[in-house]
Amino acid sequence: MTEAEVAARAQELEGQAPEEILRWAFAAFPRIAISTAFGPEGCALVAMAAAIKPDVKVFTVDTDFLFPESLELRAKFVERYGLNLEVLKGAVTLEEQNRRHGLALYERDTDTCCALRKVEPTRRALVGLDAWIAGLRRDQAKTRARIDVLESYQRDDGTQLVKVNPLARWTRKDTWDYLLGHDVPYNPLLDRGYKSIGCWPCTQPVAADADERAGRWGGQKLECGIHTFMARKA
Ligand code: SF4
Repeated sequence: MTEAEVAARAQELEGQAPEEILRWAFAAFPRIAISTAFGPEGCALVAMAAAIKPDVKVFTVDTDFLFPESLELRAKFVERYGLNLEVLKGAVTLEEQNRRHGLALYERDTDTCCALRKVEPTRRALVGLDAWIAGLRRDQAKTRARIDVLESYQRDDGTQLVKVNPLARWTRKDTWDYLLGHDVPYNPLLDRGYKSIGCWPCTQPVAADADERAGRWGGQKLECGIHTFMARKA
């Protein structure tokens, strides 16, 4: 699609339900996949997508720093939905990272740690895809306030990757209404004060009125890089 077509289609899809956006995307792009870290939005999105296209390709990154509860949730999803799930790890193993950078790199340089453990495997997962579906919402963080339902990105090799954000319009309440209304499994840490869950060294519970991503990286940053490493063109 041209960038103009992506922008025009984004406007058309803006008012549609996430299920309709997913149906359109599955028909439009044969090589498409969902990425998820099994946060609440990811759980809702994957459950929704699996009901529409049971063999939908899903990928997730295992940073070697995931909470046990997150690993159990991942296994529960595979069992419940029979997910076509690819689990990726960094090309640089944690052992090699520790040799090169020392133990607990996340305490000194979260950008390098996220680049090695999250961004690199995500880049690899996106190779060969025409479109990438993510569970981002506009009101999750100021860094996400301007996302569109459909976006066009340019990869390092110049090729286009279309990103689909079916939940862009959703609120946190919409997410929870879907999870509870459809009996979708979710991470039990969300019932213990966590609002957004990533790696255990960089994730803290937060006050009930705190921003959703305030518990990530001690508030030092809002994004790990997987949603910001490519140049957005439309
Ligand atoms: Fe490393 Fe923390 Fe980033 Fe996880 S979230 S990859 S532990 S810096």
